Amino acid sequence: MKIAFFDTKPYDRPSFERYGEENDIKFKFFETRLNGDTASLAAGCDGVCVFVNDIVDDEVIDKLTSLGVKYIALRCAGFNNVDVRHAFGKIHIVRVPAYSPYAVAEHAMAMLLTSIRRIHKAYIRTRDFNFSLSGMTGFDLHGKTVGVIGTGRIGRAFISICRGFGMRVLAYDKFRAADLEDGENIRYVELDELFENSDIISLHCPLTEETYHIIDEKTLEKCRHGVVILNTSRGALVDAEALLSGIKSRKVGAACLDVYEEESDFFFEDFSGHIVEDDTLARLISMPNVIVTSHQAFLTEEALSNIAETTVKNLVSIERDGRCENELCFRGGEAEDCKTGKCF
Ligand code: NAD
Repeated sequence: MKIAFFDTKPYDRPSFERYGEENDIKFKFFETRLNGDTASLAAGCDGVCVFVNDIVDDEVIDKLTSLGVKYIALRCAGFNNVDVRHAFGKIHIVRVPAYSPYAVAEHAMAMLLTSIRRIHKAYIRTRDFNFSLSGMTGFDLHGKTVGVIGTGRIGRAFISICRGFGMRVLAYDKFRAADLEDGENIRYVELDELFENSDIISLHCPLTEETYHIIDEKTLEKCRHGVVILNTSRGALVDAEALLSGIKSRKVGAACLDVYEEESDFFFEDFSGHIVEDDTLARLISMPNVIVTSHQAFLTEEALSNIAETTVKNLVSIERDGRCENELCFRGGEAEDCKTGKCF
């Protein structure tokens, strides 16, 4: 099988080459992203392998199918960049629903600790032999309340880390998990209660029409003064302009962002020698209480290996059996992994 691999980064290749060779899959690596202009690079390939910022809209899907491409293998969990509805019945889409929830949950906690204990400031100060502590006062996580929106794999891993720190958890999910609440320190609540009573809010839900700008001017108004916002999920969950206003007005105490609404223009690339045109991003980054990482939360050795292994398994399974449990299909109007093998 031949697969066109878009948006290749050096860290992608070793594990994909290894699992590919073991399973007779040849990856053709392209640095460019998949979009309407680059789709033709997939000519002669059975499938394409794409990541979070590749564009898989109706135009791209039609181009791929006209080239005889049969599979779109997402090497990520989220699929908000794919027009799944348009693809249905035309081309198979498989994804990696879980590769290491710990990678993302641990990164969220790393960002939170860095921010509230001013580690990012301390690192720069002591490198310059500045051992002053002024402006470095943080706060304890123990006894604080964290609001967790989305209690799937990553949300639950994050909750478990927070419990290790002695935090109380207010959880919200559209579909509550029966076994999450412990009757004392972890409670499901409605969104308003979560906004009103959380010291820290961490987002772990997918980006959908319902969750788009779940953090905006109105929701920030409901939040506690000094709330810390953590987003390691998808950029458009947060209205970046509203967040910036909240930071300027001191309503938001800190923000830790691994994702950003307009990230596809910048993230994963080196812009250090350029003038960044996005004023909101530039202003956010200039704030002392904002930490931005470049969609890095997934990037651990374990996650990279699991991503490659599952992607290759997905491709082998769909080519051999015509079905794959990680194929996206529709149930009740929403896209989800296939339980029946009747996606097509
Ligand atoms: P998951 O499917 O296991 O969990 C998602 C949870 O969100 C589910 O419990 C679901 O019921 C809930 N949900 C769905 N709609 C909701 C709504 N309207 N309001 C509240 N909750 C809702 O997914 P996961 O593996 O935990 O991943 C969560 C998100 O993390 C992904 O959607 C993806 O966007 C993001 N992610 C980011 C990175 C990164 O590197 N930063 C890596 C992987 C995943």
